[in-house]
Amino acid sequence: MSQQLPRRLESEAVGKIPILGLGTWKAAPGEVTEAVKVAIDAGYRHFDCAYLYNNENDVGTGIQQKIKEGVVRREDLFIVSKLWCTYHKKALVKTACYKSLKALKLDYLDLYLIHWPMGFKPGEKDLPLDRNGMVIPSETDYLETWEAMEDLVIAGLVKYIGVSNFNHEQLERLLDKPDLRINPITNQIECHPYLTQRNLIRFCQSRDVSVTAYRPLGGSCEGVDLMDDPVIKTIAQKHNKSPAQILIRFQIQRGVIVIPKSVNPKRIQENIQEGVFDFELAEQEVDELLCLDRDFRMARFPIAENHKDYPFNIEY
Ligand code: NDP
Repeated sequence: MSQQLPRRLESEAVGKIPILGLGTWKAAPGEVTEAVKVAIDAGYRHFDCAYLYNNENDVGTGIQQKIKEGVVRREDLFIVSKLWCTYHKKALVKTACYKSLKALKLDYLDLYLIHWPMGFKPGEKDLPLDRNGMVIPSETDYLETWEAMEDLVIAGLVKYIGVSNFNHEQLERLLDKPDLRINPITNQIECHPYLTQRNLIRFCQSRDVSVTAYRPLGGSCEGVDLMDDPVIKTIAQKHNKSPAQILIRFQIQRGVIVIPKSVNPKRIQENIQEGVFDFELAEQEVDELLCLDRDFRMARFPIAENHKDYPFNIEY
C-alpha cells in the first residue's frame, strides 16, 4: 500500500483545503480508528470530524498512531471539526473547541465550522426538545457566534474558520458584517447529483468562499440509491470506474471539495488515489449529472424547521 500522497492530490487543493477528505459521520467508534489509519496510508490528509459525531476520540487515536509511526506529521494533515448548535453562545465557543481538541488529541484544528446557522438551548442535551418534539432554540445570532470563532483563530486554536448548512442569505449577511475580521473559507453543504446546488455554489465561489460537498455518495438514505442511478452507472461503465468514483470526480471537476465517508478499507482506497484522479468526465457527462438535479435534500433536519435561522426555507 502506497504511503505517498498521490501527486495529483497534493497539487489539488481549493485554497487551503485538500480537495478530497474522509467523512466520519456514523463511523462507529469501534471502526473509525482503523479507518483513519487505512485512510492515512492510502493518502488521505483531510479528515472531516464533528463534536456531534461522538467519535472524535477514536479518530484522534488513529491520527496519533500514524504520527507516532512517522507516516505523517501533524502539519501534513488538515483536520476539520464543527461547533455544535448548543454551543453558539459566545462564552461557550472556546469550551466546545477545547472539547474537540482534547478528543482529537490535537493542539490546533486546521478548520472549525459552525455546523448549522441555528443556535439551540445550551445544556447536557445535544438536541434539546420541547413537548412537540421540536428543537428548543437559543436567542443567539450566528454573527455573534462568528466573533467568538474569530477569537479562536487569534488565540491560535484554529487556523481557519468556516460555516456549514448556511443558505446564501445567511452567508451574505456574514460576509457583509461591517466589522468582519476573518472571512469564512468554506461553506460545507449537502451536494450530489440529486441536489446539485448550482446557485449556492455560484454564489459562494463568487464571494471567494469554497464549497465542501457533504453526502456526495447519497449517504445511506432509505429508498434512494444514487449509485444505482442508470445515468451514473452508464457513465461509470464507460470509464471503467465505480459509481462512487464518478460521484467524487463530479465534485472535483466542479472545483468542489468532497468528503466521502467510508470505514471499509477497500472503499476508502477506491474513493481516492488513481480511482478519482486519473480520468476526466467529459463536459457532456458533467451536464448529464447536473441534469439529474431534483432538489432532493436528505439532511432536512425537520425538528429544527421552526427555528428562526432554519436554512432551507428559501430556494438556496
Ligand atoms: P456519503 O455520501 O459519504 O456516503 C457514505 C455511505 O456510502 C456509507 O454508507 C458508506 O459505507 C458508503 N460508501 C462509501 N464509499 C463507497 C463506495 N466506494 N461504494 C459504495 N458505497 C460506499 O455520506 P455521509 O452522510 O457520510 O457524508 C460524508 C461526510 O460529510 C460525513 O461522513 C460527514 O463527515 C459530513 N457530513 C456533514 C454534514 C453537515 O451537516 N455538515 C451532514 C452530513 C455529513 P461504508 O462506510 O460501509 O463504506
